[in-house]
Amino acid sequence: MLTNLQLQQLSESLDGTLLFDDLHKTLYATDASAYRMIPLAVAYPKTNEDIVKLIHFATENKISLTPRTAGTSLAGQTVGNGIIVDVSKHFTKIISFDAIKKTITVQPGVIRDELNLYLKPYGLFFGPNTSTSSRCMIGGMVGNNSSGTTSIRYGVTRDKIMEIKAILSDGSLAIFNELSSNEFIE
Ligand SMILES: Cc1cc2nc3c(=O)[nH]c(=O)nc-3n(C[C@H](O)[C@H](O)[C@H](O)COP(=O)(O)OP(=O)(O)OC[C@H]3O[C@@H](n4cnc5c(N)ncnc54)[C@H](O)[C@@H]3O)c2cc1C
Repeated sequence: MLTNLQLQQLSESLDGTLLFDDLHKTLYATDASAYRMIPLAVAYPKTNEDIVKLIHFATENKISLTPRTAGTSLAGQTVGNGIIVDVSKHFTKIISFDAIKKTITVQPGVIRDELNLYLKPYGLFFGPNTSTSSRCMIGGMVGNNSSGTTSIRYGVTRDKIMEIKAILSDGSLAIFNELSSNEFIE
């Protein structure tokens, strides 16, 4: 059983914030689904190092981490009894854009419609037109493989993802992308 002192110590070790007051735990007990579960705490990590610290804390204390962006999921994906990790506050940057290759690198908290506003002057857009596109974010779209009414023509989220940089459950960094046969063998 975790104590408030342990959560306080975790909070003090982060660049971001960890909240475990009743108001925030209640706010994050639900998403757009019918499910409800009071979490232990809500984290707003600011850096990758914060996320690694949260992962190690969760492993040591045998609790779950539930990533969350806009929380518009319909099946309880962002409801959990461990720590809810809300990346929508600090991971909101468009990191790089290549108009020639038509590729863009974003953090998970970029809102789908804001991404398309950015791309509009270049005559480009990110295809999946999920109904919640004014709120939903790329992290959640990848998590759910979100789609929309035009997906038959423009594809679903997984069709548009070329690479994912992720932090694994042991805290290590992994890059998922397409490998050539030689790279696979090596
Ligand atoms: C009215 C309504 C209409 C909808 N219409 C559609 C629709 O047309 N098409 C459709 O596909 N969906 C639809 N949805 C479902 C939902 O809105 C979409 O799937 C949306 O893209 C989810 O995005 P989000 O930012 O809210 O993600 P969240 O709900 O916050 O998260 C979704 C999943 O991604 C995971 N996740 C989020 N960020 C990360 C991260 N950084 N790292 C790892 N995992 C992460 C979460 O843990 C969760 O499992 C609808 C929902 C509502 C309420």
